[in-house]
Amino acid sequence: MPKKIRYFDRNKEPFLSPEERVKTFKEYALGFSVNMAVDEAKRCLFCKDAEKRCIKGCPIHVDIPGFIKKITEGDLVGAYKKIIETDIFPSICGRVCPQERQCEGSCILYYDTVRNRKNKGLPVSIGALEKFVGDFIRISGIEIEEIPDPPTGKRVAIIGAGPAGLGCAYDLAMKGHKVYVYEALPKIGGVMTYGIPSARLSKEIIDYEYERFKKLGVEFIFGCVVGRSKSLREIINEYDAVFIASGYGRGRLGLKGDDLENVYSAIEVLMRVNLFGERVDLGKKTVIIGGGFTAIDAAITALRLGVETHVVYRRTRETSSARQEEWDHIKEEGAFIHWLTQPVEILGEEGKVRGIKCIKMTLGEKDESGRPRPVPVPNSEHIIDCDSVIFAIGQDPNPVSYEDVPEIKRDKWGGIMVNERYETTLEGVFAGGDVISGGDTVVKALAQGREAAKFIHEYLMGTK
Ligand SMILES: Cc1cc2nc3c(=O)[nH]c(=O)nc-3n(C[C@H](O)[C@H](O)[C@H](O)COP(=O)(O)OP(=O)(O)OC[C@H]3O[C@@H](n4cnc5c(N)ncnc54)[C@H](O)[C@@H]3O)c2cc1C
Ligand code: SF4
Repeated sequence: MPKKIRYFDRNKEPFLSPEERVKTFKEYALGFSVNMAVDEAKRCLFCKDAEKRCIKGCPIHVDIPGFIKKITEGDLVGAYKKIIETDIFPSICGRVCPQERQCEGSCILYYDTVRNRKNKGLPVSIGALEKFVGDFIRISGIEIEEIPDPPTGKRVAIIGAGPAGLGCAYDLAMKGHKVYVYEALPKIGGVMTYGIPSARLSKEIIDYEYERFKKLGVEFIFGCVVGRSKSLREIINEYDAVFIASGYGRGRLGLKGDDLENVYSAIEVLMRVNLFGERVDLGKKTVIIGGGFTAIDAAITALRLGVETHVVYRRTRETSSARQEEWDHIKEEGAFIHWLTQPVEILGEEGKVRGIKCIKMTLGEKDESGRPRPVPVPNSEHIIDCDSVIFAIGQDPNPVSYEDVPEIKRDKWGGIMVNERYETTLEGVFAGGDVISGGDTVVKALAQGREAAKFIHEYLMGTK
């Protein structure tokens, strides 16, 4: 009998209630039980042409039907091993990837990518299944052997312990090279640690991944700001190859009034709360400017600090780069979202923020990003009173590590230019992640780090 297609009865991951969520920085998405995971896995049709569907939609091309099949067989170790062939961080990507735009957006139950038409159902919960597998292995304490090749005697330095640096470190260590990761902060993870709040990604997961790297023999040099504590030139001279994965920096606002007290960059707020557990003083009411991941994370944080939280974004929900479901989450938790609203000036009194002047926007012709360009609505100026402003827009590169090495060519924004082999213009120096792409996603940074590792290995072994 042909398998009955379960278009709609998708298992929904349980969540803490919004009232409970705002009281804590603990994770609010509670994950599938074994029964739910197995039942959800059974919705998969194990499409023969999955390479053109969910696998194509995944930036790192996880064998999705392959790992889901293992779940239906009760082989969670097998499922984990299948995922880490390509994605070494199942628990992380299962939590933070925008799956609705990636694998799940290309699942045949939802969208027929081969015939290019919307189908009638809800996609398989690929992200929640991936998270389930990663969490099961971590929580059950099952040891998965990751055995590196014999030592090659080659030494590689990596600048930055975010997903790009870690992806590269993993593959090079597995190839038998000795890897040293220089990291400015006291922990691994990059944005995954200091940017994304624990409410979305528990830091226990990052600690678990850290242990994996230590077992592989990767050495971390924390608290070392390359370009300040040690020069990149010195590092280049000491190692056989270098990979720069220093990400993107905190950005700027460029709005009248942005020099007032209580105007913060989102990265500053997130870092102070996530890394140092500070209670940043945002007053009683804050306005967050932006519509991406960073704006959502700033809102999650402000809500948990007990602050009335407003988000202003000049475009619409559908054209925002944040995950759609996360807009729902912060709204449920009490955030006020002002769509099609552009801030024009931060207003102050005695040097402190007292409000933000905004105008309403409407959507016009498409711009270079392919999204409709927001255009101002005449006479729509209005003021939102507030005690603080957090800007979650306008990220800039962070060139501290490479600014003293002019042989490394930069793009017009100050990021690093590379060729298709991730080589910079200086021999033996490679780069990947946000520092070359100007801000993307965890999984894309991870994919680039792993791909770069292939080329670095060829360079080290002289097999290019
Ligand atoms: C707040 C926020 C939330 C996000 N949420 C999501 C999400 O939910 N899902 C998603 O897919 N993407 C998300 N993103 C995007 C994603 O996190 C990034 O694209 C990704 O982390 C980039 O990885 P990376 O390794 O290139 O850089 P990073 O993660 O930025 O890591 C770079 C590392 O290099 C270190 N470093 C920098 N300069 C030096 C130096 N001179 N010396 C030594 N170390 C240095 C930094 O301390 C950092 O640890 C988010 C981004 C932000 C800012
Ligand atoms: S497209 Fe959807 S149904 Fe088909 S294999 Fe991928 S996850 Fe399963």
